[in-house]
Amino acid sequence: MAACIFCKIIKGEIPSFKLFESEKTLAFLDIGPLAKGHALVIPKFHGAKLTDIPDDHLSEILPVAKKLVTATGSENYNILQNNGRIAHQEVDHVHFHMIPKPNQEQGLGVGWPTQ
Ligand code: 5GP
Repeated sequence: MAACIFCKIIKGEIPSFKLFESEKTLAFLDIGPLAKGHALVIPKFHGAKLTDIPDDHLSEILPVAKKLVTATGSENYNILQNNGRIAHQEVDHVHFHMIPKPNQEQGLGVGWPTQ
């Protein structure tokens, strides 16, 4: 969709720090991280809500999330996905937040090996 920020990121029209890319899936760092390493995993198929996305465009999301979490070495993390304004969705292109939760020794967080 032409006006969608995340579709522009997929097309490379808006820069992003990419962590993973395949034919159907993209993962990149969130521009406003809640913790170091806060990433977004998105289907390249445009749809605002989970129910708008065909199953075959969702099937890679959790395996990619698992791969990213493994790469951080973080043992504590949240995976969340907001649908609708009341549920705090701001960007109308389905995205899964991957938020590492640092422990005290890790300070601001472990981040990704590339950071
Ligand atoms: P939501 O509230 O819709 O679940 O989360 C949207 C997320 O997208 C926010 O965490 C926000 O920081 C992130 N975001 C919004 N615009 C951009 C952008 O242009 N680039 C990146 N990397 N993240 C963005």
